[in-house]
Amino acid sequence: MSAETYNRIRRILFSVSNDPKRGFSAAYDMMEATYRQQLDVHGYIGLMAELRFYQRHGQEYCLTIGGDMGKHADFAGMYRAEPTRFDVTTNLAFKRFEDYEPFMGKGLAYKIALLDHQNFEIVDVLNLAFPRCELCGGHLFPAIVLLGRNYDRHGESLWSNDQVLLEVCGGCEEIIERNRFTHHGLLSVDENFDYGYGLDDDVPAFDRNRDYAVSAYKSFRRKCSDYLMAVGSHRYHVTERDGGGHWAIDFDFMNDAVMGSMPRHVECSHKM
Ligand SMILES: [Zn+2]
Repeated sequence: MSAETYNRIRRILFSVSNDPKRGFSAAYDMMEATYRQQLDVHGYIGLMAELRFYQRHGQEYCLTIGGDMGKHADFAGMYRAEPTRFDVTTNLAFKRFEDYEPFMGKGLAYKIALLDHQNFEIVDVLNLAFPRCELCGGHLFPAIVLLGRNYDRHGESLWSNDQVLLEVCGGCEEIIERNRFTHHGLLSVDENFDYGYGLDDDVPAFDRNRDYAVSAYKSFRRKCSDYLMAVGSHRYHVTERDGGGHWAIDFDFMNDAVMGSMPRHVECSHKM
């Protein structure tokens, strides 16, 4: 399931559910008849949870649906008279999450709506929380890095890219690798820019890269971590006149909730 597939189906189903002549029951019918088979299991459960949350709590929390570009949260709304963004999850490791330290960012309030993955009833509305760094006590923020294309040792393209799920400490900038994925056709941010697939030339480079990163963000949130906060690239930074420099992870997209608390770049090794 690609990010485009997920986002396209999400747009269609929310637009059907908002249509007074069709509504939620039509959206659920379409999901079962047509779209379920186009999504993977995480995508299906994630999208069903979003629809149910919107149906049952839309009025209570004054929810508006977050788009798939730029607006990264699933919904914007109000929680106890305060403007709040909501992300919906069903697969949060709740026991582990309870040990995390609540995180109050500088931006808008940000909540996680936890739903039961079987009946999609709301279990709880939680504050964003992260584990603590053992070295310095800072918050560890989960992020995904979209690596460039894989080649074999003869230099032949394998037509696949790896993605690394890691945690970055907002204090000492330590990086801890947590998981690794391989996908066909999931380009790095720079490859996507260079190949220019479906790109509009009038859109500035920064926005293009950000939109691409947000679209990857949405599907990786479903796939690997419901409190994912950033999407990054592995790049070489030239800092010397002779071409010397260092490798770093640049975060092309960062959730507003952690803006100012999470570093924009972290130095790392050449090999990732
Ligand atoms: Zn630290």
